[in-house]
Amino acid sequence: MGFLAALDRGPTARAALEAMTGAPAQVLARAPGRVNLIGEHTDYNGGAVLPVALPHATWAAASVRTDGRVRVRSLQRRDDEVAVELPSVAACGPGLSPTWAGYAVGVLWTLARAGVPVPGLDLVVDSTVPLGAGLSSSAALECAVGAAVLGVLGRPVAGADADLLVDAAVAAEQQVVGAPTGGMDQAVAVHGRAGHAVHLDFATGAAAARRLVALPLHERGLALLVTDTRVAHALADGGPDAEPVGYAARRADCEEAARLLGVPSLREAVPDAVEALPDGRPRRRARHVVSETARVAAFVAALERDDRRELGRLLAGSHASLRDDMEVSCPELDLAVTAATGAGALGARMTGGGFGGSTVALVDEQSLGLVAAAVDEAFEREGLAAPQHLVVEASDGASWSPV
Ligand code: ADP
Ligand code: MG
Repeated sequence: MGFLAALDRGPTARAALEAMTGAPAQVLARAPGRVNLIGEHTDYNGGAVLPVALPHATWAAASVRTDGRVRVRSLQRRDDEVAVELPSVAACGPGLSPTWAGYAVGVLWTLARAGVPVPGLDLVVDSTVPLGAGLSSSAALECAVGAAVLGVLGRPVAGADADLLVDAAVAAEQQVVGAPTGGMDQAVAVHGRAGHAVHLDFATGAAAARRLVALPLHERGLALLVTDTRVAHALADGGPDAEPVGYAARRADCEEAARLLGVPSLREAVPDAVEALPDGRPRRRARHVVSETARVAAFVAALERDDRRELGRLLAGSHASLRDDMEVSCPELDLAVTAATGAGALGARMTGGGFGGSTVALVDEQSLGLVAAAVDEAFEREGLAAPQHLVVEASDGASWSPV
């Protein structure tokens, strides 16, 4: 058992860029992955979320090209002998292939569309964020490249430019890649802060109200253990009579529940009205959103008064609700949560959209190794591939520096 190190990949990204271009890199940018502490499947229902920026991040080394072309290479894509090359920034829009290129350079196109004078660029990215594990490698990539663009223009990732970067990264994922993303990932990749969680409230729609919440874990002898189960369940369509599955189906369920309750979003729903619905999917989905929204507020309050038992109870409650009412967990996530809690974690839950991906556990710093080993043993007993653990300290959001 080992913990995935949050190594600085700036030097490797820079060396690979210089090898590719034969010239010095100009800018090195970094943007973190994230783990959501609590508040799952709430963002698209007008609720709140509480993510933390990981120490694991994506780096982008960049230099300007005078011919206006765009070339990008990822050190996570070692099979690609040649970097992806495009004739211009205008060619970085929808329909890019392979898919990862859309995540990487879509933000050039969306920034240009927002009026930023994006030049032709050579880019190399390298990352320590596990890909596709629910830890938002996609937003880390978009925001690292977007920060590199701001870097070559000499514009710090701050103020209006930070908000511009969030919006451009969201637009790249939605419009260039065509993936549904709520906006939480990009907001925390840019606005994350060491020692803090980021409270995002989606009551007013996509532009979330943002507030930093102090997360003094080490000071209190606590740690966050993230476990990537390394499973991603394919969400097969079971035919016309089967229950709909997957993220889109959950969104549709929630919209139906809001319609039945006569509220604009489930955030407005009250528990008594939810319980008065007939037994069925809409009631279960609404019950999750209403209870999870309350748990986010209770979690912030429990953090403030250092009530660790309550924090653990809320994490456990969130997991049970995602498993039973939202129905987005899976056996591997349940196993990781049960094993962590059984080994003394204060609380644990699945994190991210579900159907695979990662769990997050709040543990005493001293028992990190013990808890991780217990999860490994449980996976081995079930004949599952070894999961991957990350120890998470809340980190800073996107930034760049000249090389
Ligand atoms: P998550 O954001 O939870 O990691 P997503 O499915 O949203 O999962 O995004 C993962 C995808 O993002 C990858 O399949 C790949 O296309 C792209 N990606 C992320 N980071 C990198 C990287 N460093 N190099 C190449 N592609 C990447
Ligand atoms: Mg993603």
